[in-house]
Amino acid sequence: MQFLSYARHPQRERSRRHALIFRVTDREALVRYRFGLKLSDFLICARCGSYVGVYMDDPGGALGVLNLNVLKDRSRFSAPTSMDYEGESVTERLQRRRQRWTPARLEFA
Ligand SMILES: [Zn+2]
Repeated sequence: MQFLSYARHPQRERSRRHALIFRVTDREALVRYRFGLKLSDFLICARCGSYVGVYMDDPGGALGVLNLNVLKDRSRFSAPTSMDYEGESVTERLQRRRQRWTPARLEFA
């Protein structure tokens, strides 16, 4: 899977049509895994097991987040802090994602 672009400031990039593009160059290597609530797809590479990011279809437009650990230049980003969203309701979860996640697109090359 090839990662194309990522907005470092998603809130500022809202007006852009797509800020995060996951381009799948090997369809058979893409595993889309849905956890319990089935709101989104965790994108995993079947060849190396890397967790690449999360993609969610949403009525207002698809959203996504990228696992920065898959980037070669990940050191340019601040270190992630661990978060716990365990007690969140579905509504709260969707609201949080709509505020914080980046407009995204999943493409097949
Ligand atoms: Zn891989």
